[in-house]
Amino acid sequence: MRELFKRPFVALGAGVVVGALLLLVVPSTWLFRNAPAEAGAMASDGRKWACPMFCTMSDAPGTCPVCGMDMEPVQDHGSKVPLLARQRFMAGMRTEVVKRVPGVHRLRALGHIRHDERLMGHLTAWVSGRLDRLFVNFTGVTVAQDAKVAAIYAPELVSAQEELLTARRARDAATASGKGGEFTRNADLVYAATRRRLLLLGLPEDVVNAIESDGKARDHIEIQANVSGTVLIKHVNTGDYVKTGAKLFTVVDLSRVWAILEVFEEQAGSVFLGQDVEVEVPSLPGDVFKGRVSFVDPVLDTRRRVVRVRVDLPNKNGRLKPGTFVDAHILVALSEDGRVHDPSGPGSSGNVLVVPRSAVLDGGDRKLIYVMTQESDTTPTGTERWPAIYEPREVRTGFRIGDGVVVLTGIDEGDAVVTRGQFLIDSQLQLTGKPSLMIPEAAAAPLDPHAGHRR
Ligand SMILES: [Zn+2]
Repeated sequence: MRELFKRPFVALGAGVVVGALLLLVVPSTWLFRNAPAEAGAMASDGRKWACPMFCTMSDAPGTCPVCGMDMEPVQDHGSKVPLLARQRFMAGMRTEVVKRVPGVHRLRALGHIRHDERLMGHLTAWVSGRLDRLFVNFTGVTVAQDAKVAAIYAPELVSAQEELLTARRARDAATASGKGGEFTRNADLVYAATRRRLLLLGLPEDVVNAIESDGKARDHIEIQANVSGTVLIKHVNTGDYVKTGAKLFTVVDLSRVWAILEVFEEQAGSVFLGQDVEVEVPSLPGDVFKGRVSFVDPVLDTRRRVVRVRVDLPNKNGRLKPGTFVDAHILVALSEDGRVHDPSGPGSSGNVLVVPRSAVLDGGDRKLIYVMTQESDTTPTGTERWPAIYEPREVRTGFRIGDGVVVLTGIDEGDAVVTRGQFLIDSQLQLTGKPSLMIPEAAAAPLDPHAGHRR
């Protein structure tokens, strides 16, 4: 037994000396409640040795065949894992303090720009006739309200204009004859009826007045745009005969557009009306267009397994072109308990507990975070009086926030969670038969001091 003790002391470097000193010179404030008793128990023949990096375990001291470090006696500290500065350094251990941050999950969704269907309209022929001239000749051109779009030859209009001019002359003659009475009144009524007919046919009042003042009927009448927008479809060509009400052009106002986003089925529950959305377009790098969720399709697209979400976007300068692909983020606000906050519902959004994603070890059925429950204590001369202590916590996680993830249960604000090197802790727990990520159930016979004893 003495030989077993001697060999490490002779051969080992400073690190193991520190380790051994810890076993022997532990202060009474030592955190491991059962450490002194264990130190005694471990002095039996059944002692186990493990490499400081926990890659190997053996019944005898020696050098680890994996990493070449000298093996040290194994102790059982329950689910608490002490690690010395050297071990922490070798494993690149890092910890980070858990904070509460504003709970906003950025839900990514792809989609495309579409014209706002509510801002779409048709320029129609309000009279039948032949289109002798089109002032709007291609799709994509913008037409302003009241701009002329076509000149139409409308026989119906020509005869109606002539009737008006005739009726007007008759009325003027009746008035001039001085007969008065019913004769003049009838002439007046006929004149008013022909004038009203032209107006009802759709001729603007100023055009009717012009016809009356110069006494000439127009062969061609100009059709004006009753809505403004960009021509989406041109339905006619020069020379076409059209009937009253026929569509000449389909125009759409692009000063506001829609982004139609596709949200995957499993994420659709996080999307609510009124959530802020940031839309980016690959062709306009660096520009972020901000809008709000204005419609969530109540029906799932069963072929693509997506729910369509509409976002209204201002587009005064026309940079968002219908058809363009967009890459968007829906800003899903969370309430303090980490659940989705519905902007139109009660309550408010809040701050949530967030840990770096690297802190969470995902074992499939369950997730673990290792927490440093006790910092190491180092003397002013740099000697480590006791190691840092780590413990596993089973956690439930929620949404991702940036590089972090929301923790719903299992840890508290201010906890120092391990973000790197967790597997060193996990392997020590496995070694001592304690529940770990890899082996959730404690091993039946952890480190039986008499098992595997060959000497
Ligand atoms: Zn090793």
